Amino acid sequence: KLSKRLQMIAERVPQGARLADIGSDHALLPTYLVQQGMISFAIAGEVNSGPLDAAMKQVSDAKLENNISPRLGNGLEVVEPGEVNTITIAGMGGSLIASILEQGKHKLEGVKHLILQPNVGEEMVRRWLLENGWFLTSETILEEDGKIYEILTAVRETEENEGKSVQLYASRTYEQMPETLIDQELLMRMGPYFIQPNPSKIWIAKWQMELAQLERIRQNLAKSDMPVSRQKEEELANEIRRIQGVL
Ligand code: SAM
Repeated sequence: KLSKRLQMIAERVPQGARLADIGSDHALLPTYLVQQGMISFAIAGEVNSGPLDAAMKQVSDAKLENNISPRLGNGLEVVEPGEVNTITIAGMGGSLIASILEQGKHKLEGVKHLILQPNVGEEMVRRWLLENGWFLTSETILEEDGKIYEILTAVRETEENEGKSVQLYASRTYEQMPETLIDQELLMRMGPYFIQPNPSKIWIAKWQMELAQLERIRQNLAKSDMPVSRQKEEELANEIRRIQGVL
């Protein structure tokens, strides 16, 4: 049985997708998708040989060698151009996800769907998508075992949705909440779909925790009498006000 987090990622993979799951670890996600009859081909990419061995064992135990190809390599290195149309990258930091996409850009030809689950640093993923012609189609937030996770899905910008990414980031909130002062930086961090008049409770909880942490740092800075701390404290106070303004 999959964890709730992997289950929700699985639900976002289109039926019949040709999938590359990068950083697949035990290949749980592709194994589940094939066993459910959702897909019939997947690459399970791993940069480390320990997890790759685990993936190979999983695939052979499930007798899915004809469907799932475990491959050792860094990021999208394991994919040939045109081989897959869907990529999942889950359970790592947003900066690593963005750098895997950036380094593997030439492998993305023919890829239609990205399903990304950064553990932290979601803004780096959103920024990469925006800057590289991908349109964010959904954002989901969930809690499991006391941890909060975000799942982002994206499709290529097409004639139909062209320019909408920028609109989504720039004007969505202005239209819905004209009284809210929000800038692009905060939209990237907090998520254009999450920022709504009635936001998800989990999302609110996530940002309350973030605020509490920023506040602790601010109070520590307040104790120091170095001029640079004063300036940092002011910047933090400002950041705290901006986030509070969105919640
Ligand atoms: N994707 C699974 C999930 O969400 O449950 C496993 C997540 S596990 C925490 C992260 C995995 O990514 C590790 O097995 C690690 O070896 C792999 N990994 C880290 N950097 C990678 C890279 N550049 N290319 C491929 N795999 C990578």
